[in-house]
This record gives sequence, structure tokens and C-alpha cells, in this order.
Amino acid sequence: MALWGGIEAGGTKFVCAVGSGPEDVRATARIATTTPEATVGEALAFFQAQQRALGPLTALGIASFGPVELHPESPRHGFITSTAKPGWRDTDVVGPFRRALGVPVGFDTDVNGAALAEHRWGAAQGLDTFVYLTVGTGIGGGALVNGRMLHGLLHPEMGHFRLPRDPQADPFPGACPFHGDCLEGLASGPAMEKRWGRPAGELPAEHPAWALQANYLALALSSYICTLSPQRIILGGGVMAQRHLFPLVHAGVRRVLNDYIQAPALTERIAEYIVPPALGDRAGVLGALALARAAA
Ligand code: ADP
Ligand code: ZN
Repeated sequence: MALWGGIEAGGTKFVCAVGSGPEDVRATARIATTTPEATVGEALAFFQAQQRALGPLTALGIASFGPVELHPESPRHGFITSTAKPGWRDTDVVGPFRRALGVPVGFDTDVNGAALAEHRWGAAQGLDTFVYLTVGTGIGGGALVNGRMLHGLLHPEMGHFRLPRDPQADPFPGACPFHGDCLEGLASGPAMEKRWGRPAGELPAEHPAWALQANYLALALSSYICTLSPQRIILGGGVMAQRHLFPLVHAGVRRVLNDYIQAPALTERIAEYIVPPALGDRAGVLGALALARAAA
């Protein structure tokens, strides 16, 4: 049986796993994201130890925070590029693993990885076009379009989407260092905390924060629906742990689209159209295993 390695490379932690799928994860490790040398070194030591215990890996997958270079012909393929995270700008994350482990390495964004896992094992099985959006420390989206991960020019940056903000209703100018009030600047976990003075997880369900949050998400999702025509949208990330947000987002999307797009998914079946991840917070690291599988 093929044995894959996977790394969900996040700005806070690297989650590493060895296995072949959700029912067969043989070993995991969580490594704090410090310097590239230390973090990559620890992850490498984990996989080398697993190879001694379990046998050789067939391939490795890395689902990474970004922006990343994904073009296979680029000399910087496998690099984290223009990140604001100190010490990680222009870092080769694929090379050290490929050289030390001698296996093919699949590489994609963290959200494309999560999308791939949801496609293989979760809430997007059988679909060929869908979006996976995470609303957490940042906001990012991955998409499968006609059966292929969407890369294009670079890769989608769905969190940095511009949307209308009514300064009367929401005087908060936004927290994105690049754009101020883009979607991430308005609706990420840290943006909510900055606007309301306490962590999103501490805001009660009846707090006005949630109607505003649902409105921003509904505006963004409606635009993804109009541009990509997804068959489903999966909303993950820490902020979406607030399950009461889902019905608000469903109503918001219907209001924004205003019955223009005629599809049952957008009317009576909208609760099955905009959904939480079936794999929960394991989507990221399972996505890395799925990337390894694709690379093998
Ligand atoms: P990351 O984006 O770093 O992978 P998460 O998806 O968990 O991690 O996102 C972290 C953000 O989500 C934080 O800003 C945190 O305040 C927020 N968050 C975490 N849990 C909850 C919760 N239960 N309800 C609302 N917000 C949450
Ligand atoms: Zn932005």
C-alpha cells in the first residue's frame, strides 16, 4: 500500500502526517512555525523517523500558506514568495524535502489542498467545480474548476476581493496591510477582533457583528458564484465554527443574487449548497496527503 507524507504548512504551525487517507493516518506531528531552517528541519526529521519505522514514502504533499510559486517551469517553483511573515519571504519549502527524501513532492496552496481533500473524501465528492473558502487568521479560497485545481496566473486570492463597505454602518477601515477594507481586511478573525475589541469566539450570537460578517461573506460568495459558477461552496476556518453564521450567509446570498440565477441550489437547497467542511479542521493536512497522491 502506498504511504504518503503530508504537510499543512501554516503561518502558526506545520501539521505533518503519514498515511493514505482519513481512515489511515499512521503518525502526525505539530511543529511551531519559527524560522524556515528550524521548522523545515524538524519536519524533515519527523518524516525520516517515520520512514525508518514504517518504510519508504511514495510521495510527499505540501499545502502551504502563501503566496507561493506554483508554475512547474519556474526556477522558484515550490517557494513561498511575497509573504508578510517575517523570515519566510522567498523561501524554498519544496527543495529541502525533495533532496533529503528523494520522492516526488506535490505542492499547492493550503486552500487548494483542503479543497482537494474535500473533493476526495469530504463535502465535494463527485463535483467538478466548487470553492473552498477558509475564514480564519486570513481569508483564502481554493477552487476546482472542470475537475482541475485553479492556478492560472498565480493562484486565486479570494480573500483580497474588494467589496462595498458602507462607512455609516461599518466605520472600521479594515485591517489588510495591502488593501485596508478587502474581504480579509473586513472579515478575518483578527479583523473582527480589532473592530469589536474582543475575539470573534467571544461575541454572542445576537451581537450585531454577525449580521455584518454574514453580509460581507454573502457579497463575496455571490461574486464567486457569478464568476466561477461553483456547484458548491465549502466554508471552513476558525470563524465558521460559529454555525449560526451559515443561515445568515444563506439568506444574504439569496438577497444579493435576488433570484437572478435560477438554480434549486440557490433557493430551497441552499443549506446543502453553502456548507461546512465534512473533514473539519483535518481538511488541511488531509489535503497535503491528497497532493502527495496526485504527485505520485
Ligand atoms: P488559521 O487561519 O491560523 O489556520 P483558524 O482557522 O483557526 O486558524 O483561524 C483563527 C482565527 O479564527 C482567529 O482569529 C480566531 O479568533 C478565530 N476563531 C477561532 N475559533 C473561533 C470560534 N469558535 N468562533 C469565532 N472565531 C474563532
Ligand atoms: Zn487585502
